[in-house]
Amino acid sequence: MTAQGTIVEDEGSAIFALAAELYPICRSITGDGVRETLAVLGRHVPIETTEVPTGDAVFDWTIPREWNIREAYIEHESGRRIVDMRNSNLHVMSYSAPVRTTMSLSELKPHIHTLPAQPDLIPYRTSYYAENWGFCMAHRDFEALSEGSYRVVIDSTLANGSLTYGEFFLRGEREDEILLSGHVCHPSLANDNCSGLALLTRLAQELSRRKTRYSYRFVFAPGTIGAIAWLARNETRVARITAGLVLSCVGDGGGPTYKRSRRGDAFVDDVMTHVVRHMAPSGSIIDFSPYGYDERQYCSPGFNLPVGLFQRSLFGTFPEYHTSADNLDFIKPEHLAESYRMIRAAIDVFEHNAAFVNLAPKCEPQLGRRGLYAGVGGDKDAPANNMAMLWVLNLSDGTHTLLDIAKRADMPFERIRLAAERLAANGLLAPKA
Ligand code: ZN
Repeated sequence: MTAQGTIVEDEGSAIFALAAELYPICRSITGDGVRETLAVLGRHVPIETTEVPTGDAVFDWTIPREWNIREAYIEHESGRRIVDMRNSNLHVMSYSAPVRTTMSLSELKPHIHTLPAQPDLIPYRTSYYAENWGFCMAHRDFEALSEGSYRVVIDSTLANGSLTYGEFFLRGEREDEILLSGHVCHPSLANDNCSGLALLTRLAQELSRRKTRYSYRFVFAPGTIGAIAWLARNETRVARITAGLVLSCVGDGGGPTYKRSRRGDAFVDDVMTHVVRHMAPSGSIIDFSPYGYDERQYCSPGFNLPVGLFQRSLFGTFPEYHTSADNLDFIKPEHLAESYRMIRAAIDVFEHNAAFVNLAPKCEPQLGRRGLYAGVGGDKDAPANNMAMLWVLNLSDGTHTLLDIAKRADMPFERIRLAAERLAANGLLAPKA
């Protein structure tokens, strides 16, 4: 393995370790779980948090009451706890109102959610905007419940408070921004979205050590309402967003999948299509649809931002999705590393894409005389590198960018960029004025 390869594999392990640290935290769209999550991420990069008060109007929505939970369990009259949130925070339906009562099995049953088709898994359920309470459990355990009375306790609070989101901003040479966004509201689900939050945080850390052309804005917000609140608070600034990606489910072995922005032909769509094609031939590019993650808000018609969604397996298509099987065994460092590599490759395109001008455009310049034309037979990359130089020279008439050339040559952007660098170093190419 090359040194570069080793660095990225290590990155996969580091992302995994951070995802594992986030995994046990009981998150929801508001509450201390979100704050604790942002505090963990904040140990790696300085995250600025914003608290949006309960009752604030954000476009057509209202910030709900803040939800916090301390414990939740169901105890049979025999004293046996049949469900305990301490074993999995998926056991309690998110946003459950407080309950402390005793009831019969038949009264309790309508409040229990299971997955009959996946009888060993606990489902993930929420009830954010309709006050309710509920538990989730494995169908197999549900079927084994015996008659009798049950003590039901949900020690939660639904009270005026706030919704919390976090941002990390990295100033580049330009004011134009690349937006990178992940939802921070799911409880113990590893792929969806501890993986995305961990990857974004490690990426933010890496970028903060570089000088960048673009400014980078990382948004860690609760799904839907958090992204809506962020957009409501930043409406005047979003015109600076040149490209954006929502990241979730980046650690499983499927895909990868890129879902285009609503525009369909934005720069980010071009870049991600190129990256997926060259780095993951098994990957797929799908069209925008108004369902999914926060690209739904960023791509709503009043904003229509150039923001796409990057995932490995597409949400809703894998059996582990929104169940207790989306755990730390489901995500792997090597898949996280590959996702990281792809997002980094996309950033390399954002950072380095430009148009150049061939300074010796009349016939081909003599590359051999300059030591640029590598002989065939030695370096196995030589023929491809030679072709890359010929493509760059031929298409660098000031109208084609390096990405245009990479697409036309059907070569990875990196190879084209390095060819352009070599040609520029030898006085054959100059940036377009
Ligand atoms: Zn989800």
